[in-house]
Amino acid sequence: MFRIARRQSIVAQLQCLLLAVVLLFSTAARAAWYENSQHIMGTQITAELWHDDAEQAARLLDQVMAEMRRIEQAFSPYIDNSELSYINRQAPQGWVNASDEMLDLLAKSEQVSDLTGGAFDITYASIGRYYDYRKGQRPDDALIEENLAAIDYQHVEIDRQRRAVRFRHPAVYIDLGGIAKGHAVDRCIALLAAADVSEASVSAGGDSRILGDRRGEPWNVGIADPRADGEVTALLPLTDTAVSTSGDYERFYEDDGIRYHHILDPATGDSARASMSVTILGPEATLTDALSTSVFVMGPDKGLDLINQLDGIDAIIVAADGQMRYSADLEELRP
Ligand code: ADP
Ligand code: MG
Repeated sequence: MFRIARRQSIVAQLQCLLLAVVLLFSTAARAAWYENSQHIMGTQITAELWHDDAEQAARLLDQVMAEMRRIEQAFSPYIDNSELSYINRQAPQGWVNASDEMLDLLAKSEQVSDLTGGAFDITYASIGRYYDYRKGQRPDDALIEENLAAIDYQHVEIDRQRRAVRFRHPAVYIDLGGIAKGHAVDRCIALLAAADVSEASVSAGGDSRILGDRRGEPWNVGIADPRADGEVTALLPLTDTAVSTSGDYERFYEDDGIRYHHILDPATGDSARASMSVTILGPEATLTDALSTSVFVMGPDKGLDLINQLDGIDAIIVAADGQMRYSADLEELRP
């Protein structure tokens, strides 16, 4: 009697166990990493997320790509009917209405300009627009001299009440290329977080943000070697962080041994040459994007002085001589 009862209970227990294993496997079979990668905003956009429903995951990845396209349509200087192009045409003549998103990004740009003593300056494009790196063209000295006075972020006046913007100088031309991709990445991470995704990564060229970790492990984000295509100088284990890299190897040409690339010193209208690459870590990609461009312009010494004053922001710089420089909190990374 006793033995039979015991046997039955073992069978029942085994059945329970079997059921649990089947349940576990049926959800584990659906929970997986899902990825989508597309060319948008002149760069490679990649989004990865962990999800237990393949259809939902695909829908979320589509939403990320749609959001990237929406932001490109609003902020691209290469699209004639973008909001940015409209502002560039109209704002030298007077007040132009702008979207809240545009006003927010202009205001953030201004804050970073203040913070970096003007190293970050969206009016850099008043001269920057005359460079064509693909064709190996740059503005001549006369053109630079003529337009240098138009480079000053304080020429961009924002009126929150009026929800409008105007330029205080007729030759001002703005470009949000140093901050818009970070903004796009933040928007996409917010979209995923709102849909209850807790592990994801979104990257737009040199700007990435990680949500959560990678199944209990950190994400390993590589920092490109600025002079060896496809190679990595450092591997950073990261969770819940934004990371942006600005490099002189992204868009450039060389003439007479001098490298002309897409990060300009607003003081001169010429490419900044104190670094090869700058990587910034922080909580939000909008800020890390703008700061990577800024610190590139400021150079390693002034740049690290600034970063060391900012809570929760770190930097890894490959200086012009190839030397690696780290902000104070990252000194332990030094090999
Ligand atoms: P990318 O990821 O496009 O390489 P970066 O973050 O390195 O971007 O920023 C470079 C871009 O920033 C340039 O292509 C240009 O649009 C813009 N830019 C260049 N110089 C400045 C500057 N001094 N201040 C603000 N934006 C700049
Ligand atoms: Mg940047």
